[in-house]
Amino acid sequence: MKFLEYQAKEIFAAAGIPTPRGKVAKSPGEARAIAEELGGKAVVKAQVPIGGRGKAGGVAVVADAGQAEKEAARILSMEIRGYPVHEVLVEPAADIQAEFYLGITVDRARQAPVLIVSSAGGMDIEEVAETQPEKVAKVWLDPLLGLLPYQVREACYRAQVPAELVKPMSALIEKVFRVFKEQDAILVEINPLALVGSGQLVALDGKMETDDNASFRHPDAKGVDEQAEHPLEQKAKELGLSYVKLDGEVGIVGNGAGLVMTTLDMIQRSGGRAANFLDIGGGAQAEVVRNGLSLILSDPAVKSILINVFGGITRCDEVAKGLLSVIQEMEVKVPIVVRLAGTRAKEGRELLAAADLGGVRLETAESFQEAARKAVELARG
Ligand code: GDP
Ligand code: MN
Repeated sequence: MKFLEYQAKEIFAAAGIPTPRGKVAKSPGEARAIAEELGGKAVVKAQVPIGGRGKAGGVAVVADAGQAEKEAARILSMEIRGYPVHEVLVEPAADIQAEFYLGITVDRARQAPVLIVSSAGGMDIEEVAETQPEKVAKVWLDPLLGLLPYQVREACYRAQVPAELVKPMSALIEKVFRVFKEQDAILVEINPLALVGSGQLVALDGKMETDDNASFRHPDAKGVDEQAEHPLEQKAKELGLSYVKLDGEVGIVGNGAGLVMTTLDMIQRSGGRAANFLDIGGGAQAEVVRNGLSLILSDPAVKSILINVFGGITRCDEVAKGLLSVIQEMEVKVPIVVRLAGTRAKEGRELLAAADLGGVRLETAESFQEAARKAVELARG
């Protein structure tokens, strides 16, 4: 389960981690009232279950309540990477002297939690790790022993935390680890952890994700259903499709999770990026294919579509029929690459070859590799 910033901050505050005292608004008027209460100067922040809101324009520092209302109106009408903004958090603006990064997550490869500390906070940590790896200190924790004092010191030292901040930073790291453990989290992240004018370290942002396998231990957890927040994923769920939105440009349709995952890898290997994961499952009828395709076509990020079907109980001629009905009913502007193999593949290909495509660019491919390569090329235009 993911937690919105304000939900994570409530948990942080209860654990003794300093956070700004803000309130959530659902309308511009509410945002104005909160800013007035705070004395005018404030930050207005979109509450969506993803990061990078700042870059997307979802965070505004305002000088007075009127401006808070205006910015809240703008942010509440935004959609950030597919997530409409329903709420904004209004907080007193911090006087930032320095920004740090502090996070604990699970390193699956090492089968252990990893503590990450950096003096280059406020930025995208993945980017810092790539361009200035020496600025990101990682310390792996033994799941049974937990966080040991020397590891906290090591992380602070390697992240070049200023000497006078090592003590308060260490105390914070211990609190964050306690939250991580108690909440059965797979990620707890504070970015930025700001040094403010008063000399205190304050969690200006908060991110938390917990392990769904442990949800029975947290019946009262107040997070969000990420899928329910995303209109396209919600629609897919209603249609009974396994759909996950990703951030590339090649739309993927396949049957079976294994095949779809391999298709994602093949797209990556061909130099492209998948826009989604869509599994139509086994034995899909034309109707299911039609629903899946229309879902992908409604995503403006999709620049080409790859349909990769291995017919077992799924019949390739049913897939072709579904595809043709979409082409006839909808305005299809992106090129489509189809690779059909297995049960009734020949009939499927014949149906496609004989059909009137009305200007839609449709290419068939024999091999998996060729199909991926073509789809990536076509997505580039
Ligand atoms: P994210 O982009 O989704 O990670 O959202 P953040 O909550 O991290 O906010 C992005 C950036 O906005 C931060 O790195 C800060 O530079 C800035 N910011 C956030 N809160 C404040 C604040 O209270 N005062 C000031 N001056 N800047 C802030
Ligand atoms: Mn942040």
